[in-house]
Amino acid sequence: MELFHKKYKCEVDNEKFNTYLELIEHSRKIHHNTILKCNKCGKQFIHEKDRLHHVREEHGKEMDARVHKTEHTHKNKGKESTQGRVDSKMKKFGDNL
Ligand SMILES: [Zn+2]
Ligand SMILES: [Zn+2]
Repeated sequence: MELFHKKYKCEVDNEKFNTYLELIEHSRKIHHNTILKCNKCGKQFIHEKDRLHHVREEHGKEMDARVHKTEHTHKNKGKESTQGRVDSKMKKFGDNL
């Protein structure tokens, strides 16, 4: 009786795996294949064509639309804002006198 429906098969020795990750691990350990990584999301692939397909499918739209890069927000660190607060307090204090 088959408990799991194994979907991923090693093309070299036909061993089956539940997850693509297991297949990748097997491929790396047993066949010493170089595992390719998507440089955008870090997903791993056995074949370059798989990686290219993934990049095109998953990230292709992003590249077409030329989504602007993540905006860098420069958060002022404590010092400046605290200093500003102190200054305004001092001013008010001076006005009250
Ligand atoms: Zn294998
Ligand atoms: Zn990716």
